[in-house]
Amino acid sequence: MPLFPDGECTRCPALAANRQRIVRGYGDPQARLMIVGEAPGYLEARPDGRAFTGDRSGRRVQKLLIALGMSEETDPAVETPRLRGVWLTNVVRCNPPGNRNPTPAEVANCALFLCAEMEAIKPKVVATLGNFAARWAFGELLGQEPPAGVRALHGQTWRAGDVTLLCLVHPARASNAQIAVAEQVLRSLLAG
Ligand code: SF4
Repeated sequence: MPLFPDGECTRCPALAANRQRIVRGYGDPQARLMIVGEAPGYLEARPDGRAFTGDRSGRRVQKLLIALGMSEETDPAVETPRLRGVWLTNVVRCNPPGNRNPTPAEVANCALFLCAEMEAIKPKVVATLGNFAARWAFGELLGQEPPAGVRALHGQTWRAGDVTLLCLVHPARASNAQIAVAEQVLRSLLAG
């Protein structure tokens, strides 16, 4: 399986018909940390956009990476951040119509590419943002459903072989206190 879908991927007809373009994962190919979000938003899918840039959620993630020393930038609004030690991606790579949630079938379709990214990057820590990413990671890494919704799981970790799974609330919906917890747990995992 290729690391990225080609520009013509139509595995999800509704997403392929709606998308501006396919938004690929990016970052440091030697990353210890892989952050998995849900789906690119409209702004991330602009012609020169990248995952986790262009909107408030993206800026919150970039700010977190700057605080963790995983970005060479000082401004979380930079559109093409230079990252170190981290790879950013999503469970689906096309922006859904009206920013709706991806369907289980769409997540399953695009998981082929996510698994290829995991295999190529070999992260030690997989941090999921939101319920859809958590559900994918639990299924893929632990072969089970998440034991609760992501608000209850926020900041908790599980071991899957030599990979640590960390579940986090999506930054679009996270409180400042939850972002602080995310930073603290990631700092400790990445120091280990
Ligand atoms: S979400 Fe993924 S699998 Fe579905 S059409 Fe887009 S690139 Fe293809």
